[in-house]
Amino acid sequence: MQSIHDSFVDSKYMDMIIKLIHDALYMGQMARHYQINIKHMDKYWPHLITAEHCYHCQHQVSTYQHEFFECGIMPQIWTTINHILDDAGLPHRLASIAALPEFLYDAHNPSFNLSRIVNTNVIMVTLKSVWDAYQNKRDMTADQYRADILRRLSMYLTNEIKMIPCHRDNAYKHGCLILNGTRRRNFDERQKMLLSKPRLRIHTLTEPDILAYEEIWLPTGMISIADDRRSIAIGVTPRLPT
Ligand SMILES: [Zn+2]
Repeated sequence: MQSIHDSFVDSKYMDMIIKLIHDALYMGQMARHYQINIKHMDKYWPHLITAEHCYHCQHQVSTYQHEFFECGIMPQIWTTINHILDDAGLPHRLASIAALPEFLYDAHNPSFNLSRIVNTNVIMVTLKSVWDAYQNKRDMTADQYRADILRRLSMYLTNEIKMIPCHRDNAYKHGCLILNGTRRRNFDERQKMLLSKPRLRIHTLTEPDILAYEEIWLPTGMISIADDRRSIAIGVTPRLPT
């Protein structure tokens, strides 16, 4: 699991994904099932039990699929995310929660690949935006919820764009090269510990960082590159549905 962990932004985020694929994410119908059948909360705290239905859609059971893909603005968000991925030349898509295990399995590629890391993370931050906004969904109107998802997605995409130099450092650290027909890692585990820690470099970008930005993010229209090719400017919001 080394490479999959390194490719993700933080561990809280990985925790959400692992729970999601094991039906253990505390959300809607699944949370209710756990509260009633495992914790027997209906006997002691019936007022605390999660509603079976979506807070904003009457008669709609709050499944993961509904919350992450179907509720409110989500279909438009996924359309936008897929357009961004198209423009970035990143081919992998997530169309449903049911497809998540296979998506993650494919993402776990032992030979590090910058495009694959960014592709995976763009989809993960989309899921994370929904999960984080969902924490207060019960107390929000549909409009407030929609704005909260968009605000978070914009923030997480901005962070992901800033991660390019960090991903490149990780790719170098964990990368492989083919020598005389055999695959060798750039560094063994002991050497990796001696390497400097990957850092965010947003104003001192190197030429290979800029080349990666030109390949992946520039075609999306979400960034511009400074004339001196040492930094980028990010403008995410206009690309998202409003
Ligand atoms: Zn809904």
